[in-house]
Amino acid sequence: MGYKKVQIKIQTDYSEADIRFLIFKELGFKEFSFQIEKKSLDARKKSDPHWLLSLVIFSEQLQGESYAAPEALEIPYKKRTEKVIVIGSGPAGFFTAHVLQQAGFNVTILERGSELKKRTKAIKQLENRGEFTDQNNYAFGEGGAGTFSDGKLTSRSKRISVERSFILSEYVKAGAPEEILYMSHPHVGTDNLKVIVSNLRTKFLENGGVILFDTQLEDIVISENRINKIVCNTGEMEADHVVLATGHSAYDTYRMLINKGVQFRTKNFALGHRIEHEQKLINMAQWGSENLPGVKAAEYRLTTKTKSGLSVYTFCMCPGGKIVPASAFAKKSVLNGMSNYIRNGKFSNAGCVVGIHPDMLLGHKCSPLEILDWIDKLEEKFYTFSNSYAVPANKASNYMKKNKSKKVPKGSYPLGMRSAPLFDMVPEIVSNALIEGLQNFSKKLRGFEEGVLMGLESKTSSPIQVARDKDGRCTGFDNLYFVGEGSGYAGGIVSSAADGIRCAMGLSSK
Ligand SMILES: Cc1cc2nc3c(=O)[nH]c(=O)nc-3n(C[C@H](O)[C@H](O)[C@H](O)COP(=O)(O)OP(=O)(O)OC[C@H]3O[C@@H](n4cnc5c(N)ncnc54)[C@H](O)[C@@H]3O)c2cc1C
Repeated sequence: MGYKKVQIKIQTDYSEADIRFLIFKELGFKEFSFQIEKKSLDARKKSDPHWLLSLVIFSEQLQGESYAAPEALEIPYKKRTEKVIVIGSGPAGFFTAHVLQQAGFNVTILERGSELKKRTKAIKQLENRGEFTDQNNYAFGEGGAGTFSDGKLTSRSKRISVERSFILSEYVKAGAPEEILYMSHPHVGTDNLKVIVSNLRTKFLENGGVILFDTQLEDIVISENRINKIVCNTGEMEADHVVLATGHSAYDTYRMLINKGVQFRTKNFALGHRIEHEQKLINMAQWGSENLPGVKAAEYRLTTKTKSGLSVYTFCMCPGGKIVPASAFAKKSVLNGMSNYIRNGKFSNAGCVVGIHPDMLLGHKCSPLEILDWIDKLEEKFYTFSNSYAVPANKASNYMKKNKSKKVPKGSYPLGMRSAPLFDMVPEIVSNALIEGLQNFSKKLRGFEEGVLMGLESKTSSPIQVARDKDGRCTGFDNLYFVGEGSGYAGGIVSSAADGIRCAMGLSSK
């Protein structure tokens, strides 16, 4: 059977029959099957928004070579006796464990938080009553920060295409909609992620894996470049290899590792606020209408450089989503955004942040421990503004003039807002850059200045990075690895999971 690749332009609310008709027009015959390779929205011309579909058409009537499927991840299985402990059940930890298990290792995952059901209850308690639970929140618990997230599965890195295909196909097998395999901006939402995380866990356990919930790594015992044993709140354990996948919120774990001699350096990260708009304003600005049949909600991604050379950008935009209290620890305020698959909420939100180096914030060459302490204090300051999880907020139009807002409109954040001079609560280098950014974005997206800025966005990426090799092995250690967002080499669900897969593949090839 031969095949042909074509790209078609099609109305946003198309049906399968519409695709078949367009293919028929192209080929002149009706005996074919097809597969979508890529689907992206082109709404640059507001009078003509449409999908662009890249298709592979298969037919006996087409001549030529047979279709070669894209390269797939090949996990080298053999019978092994080595035991690996993976710490953290987020995307990086889970995919490290999953691949190691398929390669024949004996794998145990340790997770400081609880399994999904208990974690879901704790998050409801936080949102409904403002009661924070230490080990079960938006950052900690089964599935890591990736579970109660927006579930965007985008990743801009071309280096990880094989790993990305593996991750997405494992997600589809575990219940994700098939469209994530071809959408240019794949999105699953928290509702799907909860099902996916639970199905992946079941499969891992059925294949002989062990997951110890409510088990926190507290210390490591080192002898001659090796981790001899690890110390948890539940007791001591030994393993041939230890993989850390603890995310970038676990500052207590970072501190313990630094004190034990694991080498870290500071690096650029991002700091700023969340900005929220009514979704219909974003739809109008991007599409020229409040609704576009066949498309859930409009997105945006804005970037600029300030006169002094700092990057200001929007990050992790959540169309139709809500802003959530995402701190890993009590009495600190950190915001993030999430949505469900349907993305039909009244609001949209995004991080609005400045890329900056820790040394610029502290005014001197600072150590990893210093920047962690500094961020901790800033997050505390945002909490103590109201002495609650109600979040300080400022209309963007006021922020741009360094004015406190008299009143802030209602938004999606579940624990309330308090009008605050937000521009005064972050260092001037950050607020001045954000003001330049907001001015630029308001020219690019009509109505952007009508948004409300809220709280602190301090966890878009890690301010520190571990010293390690390309497979994730920490410098100076024979059997200690650090993968995912916490390592400082990845950010986001897909790139963190891919980082874990690379480490697992490295270990499996030995
Ligand atoms: C609300 C929200 C929305 C987000 N939306 C998106 C999105 O749409 N798309 C996207 O790509 N990214 C999103 N992110 C970011 C994404 O979730 C992270 O980049 C990703 O989860 C990082 O994966 P990870 O496995 O490296 O770390 P994490 O997911 O942070 O997992 C680390 C795990 O380690 C556990 N742990 C930490 N310390 C210890 C210890 N000492 N002992 C035992 N266990 C420990 C934690 O409990 C946690 O489960 C979002 C994040 C949040 C909070």
